[in-house]
Amino acid sequence: MEKEKIPREELETRIRDLEKRVVELYTLYNISRNLSVTLQLDELFKRSMDLIADSLSLEQFFLVLLEEDGLNLSVQAFHGFAAEKLAGLRFKLDDGLLGKAVSTGETLSLNEGERDKKDPLTELGCNGSLLILPLKVEDQPAIGALVAHNKDGSGFSAKDRSLIAEIAGQVANAIHKARIYQKARDLSYRDELTGLFNRRYLFERLEAEVERARRYKRNLSFIIFDVDHFKRFNDNYGHLVGDDALRAVATAMAGALRRHDVIARFGGEEFVVLLPETKGPAARAVAEKLRKRVSGIELRDPKGEKLQGLTITAGVSVFPDNAPEALLLIGEADRALYAGKKGGRNRVTAADDLGDEAGEDMPI
Ligand code: GH3
Ligand code: MG
Ligand code: MG
Repeated sequence: MEKEKIPREELETRIRDLEKRVVELYTLYNISRNLSVTLQLDELFKRSMDLIADSLSLEQFFLVLLEEDGLNLSVQAFHGFAAEKLAGLRFKLDDGLLGKAVSTGETLSLNEGERDKKDPLTELGCNGSLLILPLKVEDQPAIGALVAHNKDGSGFSAKDRSLIAEIAGQVANAIHKARIYQKARDLSYRDELTGLFNRRYLFERLEAEVERARRYKRNLSFIIFDVDHFKRFNDNYGHLVGDDALRAVATAMAGALRRHDVIARFGGEEFVVLLPETKGPAARAVAEKLRKRVSGIELRDPKGEKLQGLTITAGVSVFPDNAPEALLLIGEADRALYAGKKGGRNRVTAADDLGDEAGEDMPI
């Protein structure tokens, strides 16, 4: 077979093209590798911006994600724009080119001037070449978009477009994975029965809050609640009604707290509340408020019959006054709780109320 003769210049061009392609593939590989190790969304956004800036000659780009309401797109990260223009900016899904690209899932590539003067992107100063790439995972609807803008208005080459599109695909995949991971992690921190945080989360958070309070020399209060005579309640009405009652107690307590307070189910019919930046008297007041809330719950069985009410007993301890570290803080609150049980239940006792004599230790 006779070999095909290729002119030298063409060979050189082909080699140059191949070399470029190798660089592109390496860039993609690098981006994919870098993004796949990041499961924290904020970190992921920042990395995506840095990687795109390093590998493509784009003047300006930003990333938007669809908010939970499905109506707005909010800017998550950006490059080449003034922070005061882009930070926290939102676009409506039903308005302008960006909204259209995301809702249809179609890529938009525009030369200079090919857009409405009133388009939000024009108002942002994106008047040159514009590329809007919806972020999609397989055939699912777009979760956001990568927007690239070059002030030079002659558009993006087909090669640039396909490379940016591949990068957008990688970014979309990485975000999708990170979201799945976050969902799973969130679930692993929740108690199934009540939906409150669970013991595992509580311990992690308590350690972190104690560390923070120690570093910044702040107070941190800890309250432990135990439902009174709950065994009797179960014996009277059955476990399923008992479960409903525990859910009602959890909901009432969670509804009475502030946003920064943390409530968790500590065990069977025990709950704990962490109050950052809170001193003893305020913590005692919170415990008292929750105690009253719970005693005011009207419980009914599935047939609507009114049931006997529930009460809770609370023990309060404060960092650093009562204990210098997390486990001792729990121990002190527990000691106070136990004193409250002995004293007749349905009451709030603080570690401060107790003498120094070692209480009879209760298992946590
Ligand atoms: P005290 O006032 O001393 O706390 O009395 P108590 O009966 O509440 O204390 P005890 O520790 O003896 O009993 C706790 C009860 O809570 C026993 C257990 O069956 C019940 N319990 C724990 N977890 C659950 C749950 O998830 N659902 C239901 N229905 N009951 C639970
Ligand atoms: Mg108990
Ligand atoms: Mg109990």
